[in-house]
Amino acid sequence: MDTKKTALVIGTGAGGAVVARDLQGKYQVTMLEAGKEFQPFSFPVNKLAGLRRTGLFFDERLIRLLIPSMRLERSQEVIIAHGIGIGGTTTLATGNAVRCDETLKALGIDLDAQFEALYKELPITTEHQKRWNSATRKMFEVFQNMGLDPVVMPKLLNAEDCVNCGHCAIGCPADAKWDTRVMVDETVRKGAELVTDCKVTKLLISGNEVTGVEARHHGKKTVWHADLVILAAGGLDTPVILENSGIPCPQTLFVDMVLCVAGQLPGFKQDRQLLMPFLSEQDGYILSPYMDYLSFFFKKNWRHPMEDIVSIMIKLADEETGGVSGKRKINKVMTETDRRNMKRAVSQCRDILVQMGIPKKEQFLSLLSAGHPGGMLPLTAAEKDTLHNPLLPDNLYVADATILPEAPGKPPMLTIMALAAKIAEML
Ligand SMILES: Cc1cc2nc3c(=O)[nH]c(=O)nc-3n(C[C@H](O)[C@H](O)[C@H](O)COP(=O)(O)OP(=O)(O)OC[C@H]3O[C@@H](n4cnc5c(N)ncnc54)[C@H](O)[C@@H]3O)c2cc1C
Repeated sequence: MDTKKTALVIGTGAGGAVVARDLQGKYQVTMLEAGKEFQPFSFPVNKLAGLRRTGLFFDERLIRLLIPSMRLERSQEVIIAHGIGIGGTTTLATGNAVRCDETLKALGIDLDAQFEALYKELPITTEHQKRWNSATRKMFEVFQNMGLDPVVMPKLLNAEDCVNCGHCAIGCPADAKWDTRVMVDETVRKGAELVTDCKVTKLLISGNEVTGVEARHHGKKTVWHADLVILAAGGLDTPVILENSGIPCPQTLFVDMVLCVAGQLPGFKQDRQLLMPFLSEQDGYILSPYMDYLSFFFKKNWRHPMEDIVSIMIKLADEETGGVSGKRKINKVMTETDRRNMKRAVSQCRDILVQMGIPKKEQFLSLLSAGHPGGMLPLTAAEKDTLHNPLLPDNLYVADATILPEAPGKPPMLTIMALAAKIAEML
């Protein structure tokens, strides 16, 4: 008789996929995933672009008609994007693989070994630089000339398979981009169970122990029991599950605010390039070329041919204020400091676009969005050895963006994966 202990892993994104893969064998793992198979965007962009004037795309929350695995949530002023389905938000990620664990290190959490293992395992490359088009080369040159120290972005990518279609964030049609579906497949091959269309709603807690979870599987209420539960439903959904289980989180939500400053250069073709090919690190934010599909479809002043649009993304580390309630209502606004920092970043982008030949009065802004929600159960120095918040029952861990201590202002996926790997090692 198999006496192996059992573990439930909730979610299969950056954190969940790593924990499930690393635990399977030590435990008998069941992955409970709210969504289904990832479905990429599969329409011709040009044809859809023609429909923009009809008003068909009147609300950005309709994005799920175009990209079924993407969800957009609204707070008072920011649209927060995340993925639902196998692979979680990593399926929508642009493949950026940067390390952002400075704050964790300052707390005494050393992830060197985990990063080293991930660098060995994953296809992280800067080879794409060899295939940059003239638009990207021009932008890189302008950044260099302005002393902005641009750096080629390390990508989770099989570079030779990339067709430079620019669709990274809406589902790579060439399957060149790596995401955590690879790990989920591996975990299933190792004997774990993957249950999709299974939305966990609540933890079953008895004393200081979690005995299982309640979920809606194909719409029906179900109960799953295990010796160990790992919550990795992402920065918006993990706090909801906790709150609905009687464990409210502090109001420390960050999202990494994203705003693009854009202009028009006929035939420039920034869109025929992988997204975010390089980055420039500034104080509190990064800058990177990025075609903002959201604004392209849903913002009136972006109704230009995509190949004519030049767009620079600001990704800003916001202050950790705000939250999501048990009813999933998001409360997130920019603070005065966020606004001040964003103003500085916008002004810098405007100068870059002027250098590219686009006068300030012809420049336009994107919708305010975000894609890195997290931080509502932040790790502290007191938890450096356990990676376990004392508010949680002993056999319940959180292993996703929820435990990051502050807004990274940079792509966090690799850091979440390293943290998840360390948690799995400890278990
Ligand atoms: C457009 C876009 C591009 C991005 N690009 C990059 C990038 O290039 N590099 C980078 O480092 N980061 C990028 N990010 C951010 C990165 O993808 C996320 O920070 C990361 O995936 C978060 O990991 P996670 O484990 O916290 O959550 P997720 O990856 O979001 O995983 C959460 C999982 O839980 C599941 N789930 C949710 N609720 C439930 C429930 N109730 N029950 C069961 N399952 C549930 C979801 O379906 C999902 O599988 C991007 C984000 C966006 C939106």
